[in-house]
Amino acid sequence: MRTELHRSVSHPLTRLRNLGILAHVDAGKTTTTERILYRTGATYKRGEVHDGTTVTDFDAQERSRGITIFAAAVSCEWAGHRINLIDTPGHVDFADEVERALRVLDGAIAVFDGVAGVEPQSESVWRQADRHGVPRIAFVNKLDRAGADLDTAVRSIRDKLRVTPLVVQLPIGQEEGFTGVVDLVAMRSLVWADGAETFVEGPVPDELREEAERRRRLLAEAVAERHPAALEEYCERSTLTAETLRHALRDLTRDGDGLVVLCGSAYKNRGIEPLLDAAVAYLPSPLDVPAVRGSTSGGEQRERAADPAAPFTALVFKVNSTGTGRLSYLRVYAGTVQKGGVVLDAGAGRTERISRILRVQADRHTEVDRAAAGDIVAVVGLKAARVGATLCATDAPLLLEPPTAADPVVSVA
Ligand code: GDP
Repeated sequence: MRTELHRSVSHPLTRLRNLGILAHVDAGKTTTTERILYRTGATYKRGEVHDGTTVTDFDAQERSRGITIFAAAVSCEWAGHRINLIDTPGHVDFADEVERALRVLDGAIAVFDGVAGVEPQSESVWRQADRHGVPRIAFVNKLDRAGADLDTAVRSIRDKLRVTPLVVQLPIGQEEGFTGVVDLVAMRSLVWADGAETFVEGPVPDELREEAERRRRLLAEAVAERHPAALEEYCERSTLTAETLRHALRDLTRDGDGLVVLCGSAYKNRGIEPLLDAAVAYLPSPLDVPAVRGSTSGGEQRERAADPAAPFTALVFKVNSTGTGRLSYLRVYAGTVQKGGVVLDAGAGRTERISRILRVQADRHTEVDRAAAGDIVAVVGLKAARVGATLCATDAPLLLEPPTAADPVVSVA
């Protein structure tokens, strides 16, 4: 493991996204995550991930699968934003872990299989995310596969998940001939040539113009129906500018009033950049989500907003034992903790020292000197704090509310 010493880079909170990737097993969560890390990280070399030499490996099994992507959280950067990707298991047998991950993320990308559409397990994870009020966008993956069809997948999203899909792309080509998408917001085409690192942008192809215009009208109508400012513009101009569409899509995503749907083939590396653009444009920052609640030692209910100057409040959401010792993953909701700082485990009534603070990236851990509101970091030094523990300032104890109880999960064969 390569560990570097850095001063923590301060990211304005509006430029931070704590996201999970929700998916049915096999829908392509791993491949999508891997492609995101590759696309966002100059340091991450595709291909090398398979030989297990460059990744932050916690154990041999993880190493054999190129496991950084299975670390509880991995940081990457895109378009001036830091994205923390939080691992969420794709199998119902891990409902508790999904529940824990949903607690610490602010938004999610739901990956669906372009052939199978919404599968039973995607539905149960979807319901869990509903209960937590997690804003989502959708990525219909595997459009290169035989039998893949965006429209069919979108219908299954609408019927099974009972959401209004807001489809922002039109695929160019089908199955093996799937080469790119028309971006219906900006009305441009993005085409990924075989083996190319990224897309070539161009006008909407003539043969797709009519269909793209029809679909853009449908999108604008669906958006205007749900968004008053967009409706006003639509009534005046019978269309919506790209800027109005983007603003409205952001509001609808954050309010859960519609689901932005993108598509691609993670395996063929097609569609990753627009997915990242949509994630930073539409999904919320820590400032856009409700403050956490908890009780003080006197039993009073308090909220703690995502303010680095507020009393420190964090949740331990995963503990890994690694070669380097016990690594605890924290979501910091409020305040700031310095390396070497002493915090209180509010439930256990015990103090703990945070000896090191690490940010996990695709191919390394970066040591930082502090973690502040909104951050997701791994820390070394906690001796007893368990998963689910609230860590807080010693002079301002607060015990975070326990997660909502998960519905009983029925296993689907
Ligand atoms: P996970 O279980 O959701 O993490 O899914 P994986 O990312 O491991 O993918 C499951 C299988 O689908 C693997 O064999 C992948 O290579 C394959 N796969 C993932 N994305 C795509 C895609 O876009 N197109 C095709 N044809 N196969 C894909």
